[in-house]
Amino acid sequence: MPSYLQWLRFIWLPGILLALLAAQYLPWIDLTSLYSVQLPVLLLVMALMLSLGFRSSRVALASLLIMLIYVAAVLQFLPNLNTDLPLYLSIAAVNLVLFACSRDRSLFSFFGFLWLSGLIAESVGLAMLLECCAPLRMIFPLETLPEWLVGFLPRIFSLPQLVSCVSAVGAFALLFLYPGPTAMGLFSCNLLLLFAVWINLPVEFIGTVAAVLLLTSLLGASYELAFRDELTGVRSRRAFRYQMLTPGRHYSIAMVDIDYFKKLNDRHGHQVGDQALRMVAAQISRHTRGTVFRYGGEEFVIFIPGRNGIEKEILLEALREKIAHYPMCLRASGRLFNGSAGSSRGKEGTRQVRITVSIGVAHRHKSLKSSDGILKAADQALYKAKRNGRNCLRVHA
Ligand code: GH3
Ligand code: MG
Ligand code: MG
Repeated sequence: MPSYLQWLRFIWLPGILLALLAAQYLPWIDLTSLYSVQLPVLLLVMALMLSLGFRSSRVALASLLIMLIYVAAVLQFLPNLNTDLPLYLSIAAVNLVLFACSRDRSLFSFFGFLWLSGLIAESVGLAMLLECCAPLRMIFPLETLPEWLVGFLPRIFSLPQLVSCVSAVGAFALLFLYPGPTAMGLFSCNLLLLFAVWINLPVEFIGTVAAVLLLTSLLGASYELAFRDELTGVRSRRAFRYQMLTPGRHYSIAMVDIDYFKKLNDRHGHQVGDQALRMVAAQISRHTRGTVFRYGGEEFVIFIPGRNGIEKEILLEALREKIAHYPMCLRASGRLFNGSAGSSRGKEGTRQVRITVSIGVAHRHKSLKSSDGILKAADQALYKAKRNGRNCLRVHA
């Protein structure tokens, strides 16, 4: 999957939102007794505590913001709640987009102090503005704005509706920049606020569902930490161990190792080494039918289900060639180009490095059944490929 589409992995988060919305409106699933006044506060405090522990300032700020609005709404701190709630929710949606633009850091820092002060100043400022300039409220329906400004929009929009739509689009665009469960959680909360502004959802529902989405995004983030390799984005060795607990009856294991990787690091620096690891991981993910895992260092394992060994070997050979012919472009900076044998100058200002891999593969068959045995056999085949001069595929006989 291309890196800019990685967010598709977390599509289940808005799915949860849609399921809860459907449950709210389908008469034969009655969840109304589930939503109490206290539940959102409890769940939002849990989300806040967990996110502080995870140093996820984006989720912590979102939990705080939703809690602020919810408590203000329940305790009737907000004057004219019924008329102003969509306005508050749309402004919260803008804040969620701003949170989504930031990087996760500890909230117990100057950065956290800035965000929290900004949130408090914004809330107090808005409340005072609406309190002392009541007529200001009148400008919010879209019909009262000048024709030249909003003439192209349908008359039925109100400003909160427009703002929540723009925020949801902004949060969606950010998924391409920062794909991950947290960005998807914030986008799902944005969608929730969009629905809340358009169809007037009860505040208990908004608070509970927002908390569920934020908690679930934290769970998704911790799953990613445990089962994904941070550098390359492919599954981790731990995920491979779990995969091998239930591998099925017909499968093969391929081990892929980058050739002379230490030399590449020494010549071009570890950043280029990391770039090479990402490139190889992306190429394997794109050109293989199996599941890719980073086994450690510059070694990857591919779990390939199915019976047809010959077909798998052909595909692995094609993968090896694709990687060998892939021109990895380096920017002309720093120590990247000092005495780099094996690299060639590409376009002006860039240089290309070619990387090769050796591959060893072993298929499960009658006399080779245990998963440990198959992994060992793939490793032996890989060493055979190394001994045979590298940049080649060897099959365990
Ligand atoms: P061979 O062709 O026999 O496989 O030789 P090699 O140099 O590829 O293998 P070797 O085991 O000697 O070196 C592996 C190197 O991989 C050593 C280590 O510095 C580097 N390495 C391991 N993990 C990472 C990483 O995450 N990033 C970078 N940049 N380098 C790494
Ligand atoms: Mg190597
Ligand atoms: Mg190695």
